[in-house]
Amino acid sequence: MQTIPLAKPELGEAEIALVTETIHSGWITQGPRVAEFENALARTVGARHGIAVSSCTAALHLALKILGVGPGDEVILSPHSFIASANAVRYCGAKPVFVDIDPATLNMAPGKIPEAITARTRAIMVIHQVGRPADLEAISAIAKGHGLPLLEDAACALGSEYHGQPIGSNGFSPLVCFSFHPRKIISTGDGGMVMTNNDEWNTRLRRLRQHGMSVNDRERHQAATVVTEEYLELGYNYRLTDIQAALGLAQLGRLAGIIQRRRALAAHYDLELARIQKLELFREPGDSRWNHQTYLVRLREATASTRDRLMQQLLDAGIATRRGIMCSHREAAYADRSPRHALAHSEAAQDYAILVPIYAQMTEAEQDQVVQALRREVVR
Ligand SMILES: *Cc1c(COP(=O)(O)O)cnc(C)c1O
Repeated sequence: MQTIPLAKPELGEAEIALVTETIHSGWITQGPRVAEFENALARTVGARHGIAVSSCTAALHLALKILGVGPGDEVILSPHSFIASANAVRYCGAKPVFVDIDPATLNMAPGKIPEAITARTRAIMVIHQVGRPADLEAISAIAKGHGLPLLEDAACALGSEYHGQPIGSNGFSPLVCFSFHPRKIISTGDGGMVMTNNDEWNTRLRRLRQHGMSVNDRERHQAATVVTEEYLELGYNYRLTDIQAALGLAQLGRLAGIIQRRRALAAHYDLELARIQKLELFREPGDSRWNHQTYLVRLREATASTRDRLMQQLLDAGIATRRGIMCSHREAAYADRSPRHALAHSEAAQDYAILVPIYAQMTEAEQDQVVQALRREVVR
């Protein structure tokens, strides 16, 4: 029996054709395809600039640097996220200060932010967990009140909307970071992008991703006169390649269809799983539209052992699941730093949620198999 995977990128002939064309062109590192991908994504989400980088982790690192985050500073964020969110803060020599989530949304609880702000706070990182927009309005009001900048970890949130605007349009924060890892909405293998409306930051981000160089390879290649580059500040090698960007462009062509299909699958799960008493579902709030990057359910009255047994039974029935989103502060890499604030909701969300399969090519039969297995196994 074949296992229904948790997630699967949708890749096909369009990707193969564009990648092949790019290889034939002879230009395979950051060049014209990257520029094309940046422009296309910026247009899609309504941002002025997109700066492609090698991952969302790199995007977050550069966005924090742009905001001046450095040693001794603190950045406020949710611990209930992939570890990269907090790691990017530590790359700057700064301290992640974790604020608990609202269990109803899985995103940072705005009401708990003020007590976490200190004289050292330099920025607030808003994470749109599993693609569900955080309460940007409330958080940006708090940030403004304290004179703090926001940045968005929108790794999972491409295609989601908040107050009628696409995530990435920079309506509430000046820097929004996307991921193109295969677990996200569209994929370039690995890759990320920073969206900003700020022209100066656009220039600086382009420099930082390429060793701090004053001119990029494409400009130098096209120049009619000899160009000597300078290295204006300490930069990184965070480039995306043209091969990856070709993949990204083809993926972007599928974006609307992917979101539409995920919404249909989620609506079907909502309908079918609502009948299972011991499952608690999440409802899309009126002010947002979710891209359904992940479908997760909360187990009522569960213990660690009933959860593990359920996940094993589902695996035996050919269905892959995962435990809830991780909590960074519980990992060994964070063991030397005890959190300042209680994080009970984040921990419970990790322990008593399970992620079930959802991906654009999922068939009705596959989804029925998941629904049937949950009906059978959850009641036991
Ligand atoms: C996946 C993810 C990241 C990291 O993205 P990469 O592109 O793999 O570096 C960061 N934050 C969140 C919330 C994520 O889900």
